[in-house]
Amino acid sequence: MAILKFAPEALSNLFKPPVTTAYPAKPAEYPERSRGHIEIEIDDCISCGLCARACPCGTISVDRSAGTWTIDRYDCIACGFCVVQCPKKCLTMVPGYQTPGGKKSSVTYQKSPEVLAAEAKKREEAAAKAAAAKAAAAKE
Ligand code: SF4
Ligand code: SF4
Repeated sequence: MAILKFAPEALSNLFKPPVTTAYPAKPAEYPERSRGHIEIEIDDCISCGLCARACPCGTISVDRSAGTWTIDRYDCIACGFCVVQCPKKCLTMVPGYQTPGGKKSSVTYQKSPEVLAAEAKKREEAAAKAAAAKAAAAKE
């Protein structure tokens, strides 16, 4: 009588809450350390390009002169290599996945004007220093 064997389990389930959730009405709860999508603190980025070189999918592109960092989230496999490689620790893996869409698209982050101006000033100072050192070496 197999039915008698399963009857207690079936009856107890009548009084238990469902194990499933009413997603998307109730937001998903992601387990700790779950992989999701990459976010960047763009003003901390030094445009070194290590993340782009580490990415196995060619998902990231960095434009140092424009101060931009671009990711095509539809190509990202959430491996986390870019997060590990970033020397400034400005990349993080954040829970939550890319919203599905009919077309692939990328998102570009732009450094703030203050950070761009500070970087330009630093480059000018470095160039002036190098020129002065070169001139001093030529005199010797
Ligand atoms: S998580 Fe992996 S695939 Fe996604 S951008 Fe970073 S390196 Fe590329
Ligand atoms: S590795 Fe980090 S600092 Fe370098 S370009 Fe990528 S996000 Fe910016």
